[in-house]
Amino acid sequence: MTAHPMLRLIFFGPPGVGKGTQAKIIAKRFNIPHISTGDMLRTAVAKGTELGRKAKEIIDAGQLVPDDIMVGIVREALAAPETAGGFILDGFPRTVPQAQALSKIFSELRIGRYRVVEFDADREELVRRLSQRVVCRTDGKIYTMATDGVVPGMPCPDCGGELYQRDDDKEETVRRRLTVYEQQTAPVLDYYKKLKVALYVDGSGSVVEVSRQITMMLSEES
Ligand code: AMP
Repeated sequence: MTAHPMLRLIFFGPPGVGKGTQAKIIAKRFNIPHISTGDMLRTAVAKGTELGRKAKEIIDAGQLVPDDIMVGIVREALAAPETAGGFILDGFPRTVPQAQALSKIFSELRIGRYRVVEFDADREELVRRLSQRVVCRTDGKIYTMATDGVVPGMPCPDCGGELYQRDDDKEETVRRRLTVYEQQTAPVLDYYKKLKVALYVDGSGSVVEVSRQITMMLSEES
């Protein structure tokens, strides 16, 4: 069975813009895997694998893990049979060489059609959101302290897992991640604009509004 072309998606945008939250919602709705390179790295860190040991310092400094490591991880994930019906890539590619490597992987896997969903929002809003963000250790669900009425240490309202604040969500690290985004990741968008595969989503609305925008956009495209 060939996948619906619109279900091969790359969610792209700065940290805190809502890519992960929306990827979880859309992946569940269409029953396709959510491939988050950040989540994969955090799992490796938690397990203390060799990759995790290498990645921890880099993540905590708000910098990027080397391209060859990331490309290897994504190549393996995309070759898995579960992605045959579509997928959402979240957090990859983050550099132009990663985007070029991904194009090569797509052609090896004979994936011709895919879309890049670009999310954007005001930078100060991103800093505010990230400093308010808590994550469930068990199901990865993302909450905002002020609006969801949760604090780190509380049980996840959905699954009862422990809520925690990411080490790289400290304000100083958040600002470094945004600078890294502007310098190394934003140019990736030009790469996809030239290929005419980029779609735009305004990430400043509520979770429900943004997911409605994405669903409408996907149905218009199909
Ligand atoms: P995220 O959960 O997407 O915000 O990713 C958290 C951190 O993991 C990033 O700040 C990077 O240090 C690292 N990371 C995740 N994805 C990539 C990638 N594609 N390339 C390099 N580093 C990555």
